[in-house]
Amino acid sequence: MNLFDVYPLNNVTIVKAKDSYVWDSDGNQYLDLYGGHAVISIGHTHPHWVRRIEDQLEKVAFYSNSVQNPLQVELAKKLGEVSGKEDYQLFLCNSGAEANENALKMASFHTGRKKVVAFSKAFHGRTSLAVSVTDNKNYVAPVNETDNVTFLPFNDEAALEAHFTKHGNEIAAVIIEGIQGVGGINVATESFLQLIRRLCDQYGAVFIADAVQCGYGRSGKFFSHDYAGVNADIYSMAKGMGNGFPIGAIILAPHIKPKHFQLGTTFGGNHLACAAALAVLEVMQQEKLMENAAEVGTYLQNELKAIPELKNVRGRGLMIGFDVPEELAPLRKNLLTNQRIFTGEAKPNVIRLLPSLALKQKDAQQFIDALKKEIAALKEAATAQA
Ligand code: PMP
Repeated sequence: MNLFDVYPLNNVTIVKAKDSYVWDSDGNQYLDLYGGHAVISIGHTHPHWVRRIEDQLEKVAFYSNSVQNPLQVELAKKLGEVSGKEDYQLFLCNSGAEANENALKMASFHTGRKKVVAFSKAFHGRTSLAVSVTDNKNYVAPVNETDNVTFLPFNDEAALEAHFTKHGNEIAAVIIEGIQGVGGINVATESFLQLIRRLCDQYGAVFIADAVQCGYGRSGKFFSHDYAGVNADIYSMAKGMGNGFPIGAIILAPHIKPKHFQLGTTFGGNHLACAAALAVLEVMQQEKLMENAAEVGTYLQNELKAIPELKNVRGRGLMIGFDVPEELAPLRKNLLTNQRIFTGEAKPNVIRLLPSLALKQKDAQQFIDALKKEIAALKEAATAQA
């Protein structure tokens, strides 16, 4: 059997990982500023995370949700404590798309409505509801096409207000990433998030915060939406929640009350996944990783802003993007090939940084030095050619 060729692959085979580093099958070390697409939160193979999973594996790895699972209760308590959303209710699932699927369904159950507002360049996942609020026609199969979703321009307050004035009473939910990830690191303005809160309150719609990529401490606060000083009704999360162990979740504000059978999943909240997620929160607290993300992220952004060739440096904490001018287009590939540094991309010509929240300042500095070197080399090659 051949592998189905879905992803464009880098020609690298990762066989080992530790902290912010990974190694290929030839023993070469790479600095990982991609974090496996924002998944690595506390650092690769963190010893506490490994031990907690190993310990749990020897006790019970899985039993169905038809019995009590104290690890789920412990995780709900810890997540409330670390996120500050102590009065929310936790539902555990397996991925970001599944989390958004459930968030949208709950908003519709709660309101009895079916219209949803999403935004330009949004990415919310590949399952049917998640992809229907994702602003990329290439991902949408005919079976997923719907006229229930309206895409409005991101951060456009007038467009949002006008849409609500006309259709507010039909809207079940507004779904928004606090910082768009796949769309190229676009930060939602505080006033835009505040307006969503006000309009959802006024018209009885549900505010869904997709925190799958921008959440879990990556922005320097637990939820990047927290910068606006408003609470969403539902938050979806996944990626950093398990540090590589598959787990996702939604948390629901107290007034949204799921009924039996409205939510459900076989694997969601299994013992092993809960152990992994608990280890992540324990390490985040003990090692003050949100604070580190804010501090090292600010350092990194300031250093990037001082490089004149890079444009529109943006983001929060350790979720950073910048534009690369057309003449430096090979930069990302050269960083990987020549400097052994993994970064992420977004089109057109955006480099995305999504490292572990434990990234050290010296690693950030290594990246800046490497970046300057590769920019200089590309400029030199261009001058030689001219
Ligand atoms: N929402 C956002 C903001 C994401 O970035 C992603 C994944 N890139 C998803 C949802 C979907 O998550 P998953 O791949 O775990 O289904």
